[in-house]
Amino acid sequence: MEKVDKGLLKQLVEGHISDNDVDEMRRMTKKDPERFWTYLEILQDKATWDNQILMRLNDHLFIVKKGDERIVKCECGHEYGDYRVNWKLHSDVRVRDNQEKMEEVYYPAAAAPDPDWMEIREFYCPGCAAQLAVEIVPPGYPLIFEALPDLDRFYSEMMNKPLSDESPDWFKDKTADYLATL
Ligand SMILES: [Zn+2]
Repeated sequence: MEKVDKGLLKQLVEGHISDNDVDEMRRMTKKDPERFWTYLEILQDKATWDNQILMRLNDHLFIVKKGDERIVKCECGHEYGDYRVNWKLHSDVRVRDNQEKMEEVYYPAAAAPDPDWMEIREFYCPGCAAQLAVEIVPPGYPLIFEALPDLDRFYSEMMNKPLSDESPDWFKDKTADYLATL
């Protein structure tokens, strides 16, 4: 296999690709350079909105271009604002901080974290209620910012196709700035 066609990649994205095809893709000596663009095209075809997808963050969230902004957007259309601010601050959060709440999601009970030391935070989309992330951390621990990609560097250096709005200002964590405005 020299190049993975769009149909096969779509099956992979949707989770119904055959084991044989996966094996064959794994055996390719080198990824075809077009694969990222084809992958983006598939995601864009499936999106119900028009913003250009720059990167996928997880099963539901994307970084997209909106006017002169780069924002996080859910597949349902819900927008989380500037991608440089941890999107979790704009999500619905459920905290499991006692034995009873933890045992609702842990079996056997002995496998649950000790609520004196840890809490479970579940993050949901306010638009579609999809579970977006789970973190298990000591109480009071700051929200984990899972991914702040250097999009300009990725596009220009790895993909050889710089984004039109390239700027050194993009690759900055703005979470603290946002919190200071609250
Ligand atoms: Zn959503």
